[in-house]
Amino acid sequence: MKTILTQSRKTAIALLLLVSSIGFSQTKKLPNIVILATGGTIAGAGASSTESSYTSGKVTIDAMIDAVPNIRKMANLRGEQVANVGSQDMSVKVWLDLTKRINELLATAEVDGIVITHGTDTQEETAFFLNLVVKSDKPVVLTGSMRPSTALSAEGPLNLYNAVAVASSPDSKGYGVMVVMNDEIHSAHGVKKMMTTPVQTFQSPEEGPIGSVIFGQVTFFHKSYGKNTSSSAFTVEGLKELPRVDIFYACADASADLIDYMVKAGAKGIVIAGVGDGNMNASSLEAVKRATKAGVKVVRASRVPVGAVLIKGEINDEEYGTVSSDEHNPQKARVLLMLALTKERSRADLQQIFIEY
Ligand code: ASP
Repeated sequence: MKTILTQSRKTAIALLLLVSSIGFSQTKKLPNIVILATGGTIAGAGASSTESSYTSGKVTIDAMIDAVPNIRKMANLRGEQVANVGSQDMSVKVWLDLTKRINELLATAEVDGIVITHGTDTQEETAFFLNLVVKSDKPVVLTGSMRPSTALSAEGPLNLYNAVAVASSPDSKGYGVMVVMNDEIHSAHGVKKMMTTPVQTFQSPEEGPIGSVIFGQVTFFHKSYGKNTSSSAFTVEGLKELPRVDIFYACADASADLIDYMVKAGAKGIVIAGVGDGNMNASSLEAVKRATKAGVKVVRASRVPVGAVLIKGEINDEEYGTVSSDEHNPQKARVLLMLALTKERSRADLQQIFIEY
């Protein structure tokens, strides 16, 4: 009897060990993802779930993670509150701090990817900035939401879930910085905010989304155009600020003296949000000529949301000393110009940069 008991006990222990060893080997080691929170509507709160008014940046990152069911089953998560603002108040200082922190974290073997929660108003600018200065192939994913956390059908929790899925996926390496919203993955190079309030606001009208993510199921379609992250030559090493670059919005009968004012105020660069193909009225063009003669670098972008600005279209760039933004909208052209002007560059060098990035 004693022997039988001992044998069955041994069998039970062996079975237990087998089960737990299968369980252990089947429990894939989870990736380590750091969520850097900056505020925005995803962290916003309002008094009622059906009113449109709310304040951005009210909810902390820990509360946001806790609001997402099953998110901790995908990854080991750690949150850091970098800022808590509406992204209309995003600044160069936060960009520099964010970059340093991301580069620091991704340089360690323990961190597999980064998610950044961010307001949508300037999300494409932050994404594009990071795309140029993050020095790693590991995934960096920005997300946000159009509806505050207190709203009926708030989409922030699913966006955060999907962003963590993309940052955790082994397939996500080498795509540069990405924006994940509304089940789509966009490259920082291609993404633009196209609508004021609808949840499908982020689109990549020229290159399309680079992938999709449906309840955490990640699929990539293609790589984005342009140098990014580890292939980018730009760095924030040693930088405390960036050169001033202003945006001039062209329109019928535009007040060209605003361009002269920008030069007087110390702008090192000016981006023209041009009409049509980066165009502007004759008096603005003359003001641009004065600016470029004074050594200020001028990039022609367009206020039209989709399409590239042609080099030497209606405007002869060589004659006016201007550069085409290629397909970057004015706000993203400004980001690239600010970084490009951290070094002395000729007009030709700048044009090459706008083609390559
Ligand atoms: N103003 C908000 C922000 O950019 C809008 C949003 O997040 O959707 O922070």
